[in-house]
Amino acid sequence: MKVAVFSAKSYDREFLNAANAAQGYPHYLSYYDVRLQPKTVALAKGHGAVCGFVNDDLGAETLKRLAELGVRLVTLRCTGYNNVDLATAASLGIKVTRVSAYSPYSVAEHTVGLILMLNRKLHRAYNRVRDDNFSLEGLMGFDLHGCTVGVIGTGKIGNVVGRIMHGFGCRVYGYDPYPNETFSAIGTYTTLETLLADSDIVTLHCPLVPENEHLINATTIAQMKKGVMLINTSRGKLVDTKAVIEGIKSGQIGYLGIDVYEEEGSLFFQDLSDTIIQDDTFQLLQSFPNVVITAHQAFFTRNALTDIARTTIENLTCFEQGLPLANEVK
Ligand code: NAD
Repeated sequence: MKVAVFSAKSYDREFLNAANAAQGYPHYLSYYDVRLQPKTVALAKGHGAVCGFVNDDLGAETLKRLAELGVRLVTLRCTGYNNVDLATAASLGIKVTRVSAYSPYSVAEHTVGLILMLNRKLHRAYNRVRDDNFSLEGLMGFDLHGCTVGVIGTGKIGNVVGRIMHGFGCRVYGYDPYPNETFSAIGTYTTLETLLADSDIVTLHCPLVPENEHLINATTIAQMKKGVMLINTSRGKLVDTKAVIEGIKSGQIGYLGIDVYEEEGSLFFQDLSDTIIQDDTFQLLQSFPNVVITAHQAFFTRNALTDIARTTIENLTCFEQGLPLANEVK
């Protein structure tokens, strides 16, 4: 099948080409660096499927144009599918598949990396030592051992984060509308209110759906412990960034680590170092010493990319051969 791959970086080409070769070259892959959106959708002409990523715009307008071009499958190289208008896709007869599972260790370990970086102020220490400034003033951290970590969303990634933090000697709380036994083995399920009130570190691992947009807002921030560490490696829109900025300014939030940002679509996955960033909220967030931002790289390990590429090629093959779509999103 001919597939138009959008938001394609060098690493996407490398891993998708390798997976396509390993499965006997079943598909012809056209790579486009640009994001899929209404103004780029024409590039999908002549292809039966498009392959997208987290910041591609698969809203109603793009999907209608894709249907007109004869595209019948949207396959995502990610777990989340909040960027797809599923109702419109269904009404147009376009199937949607994703990578429902890949190395959860990639995202979980990055999450723990952010926690350690913030707690021990490693981002500041690194810069100081490079500047021959060996003073420890302002670098004091705290032991993770004995802390309470609240995991919101205890699925594949939340489970691994819970296990690692349990290994550090933390008390682990979980909040999830669908509790599971694996998490219960190391953590205690509580209400969201108790988790927020009792946790020294709150970390988000639930999917973004319309019901939990801005789950972290002025009200829920006020319910947290003063000086809490907030980590978001899930999806940007789970957090009301302006409320978080107020929380940081008042000291209610003591540390913020994010790998995702609600307006990341026009920023992340590109080199903007020679441009003037127009997003004042993002720039303000960057200016705080107790904030660490990474640009949606938590998934970015060779293990995860291998899993993602293999599953993507399999999703395409199943669709082309009319086999059951194990990773279909409905
Ligand atoms: P998963 O489906 O295994 O787990 C998600 C869990 O969240 C489930 O247990 C579900 O019941 C729970 N949940 C659903 N709604 C909730 C709510 N309102 N409050 C609390 N819990 C809720 O998914 P996963 O593989 O662990 O991935 C979790 C999320 O991580 C994805 O949805 C995606 O947004 C994000 N992610 C980010 C990256 C990255 O690179 N930063 C990579 C992969 C995934």
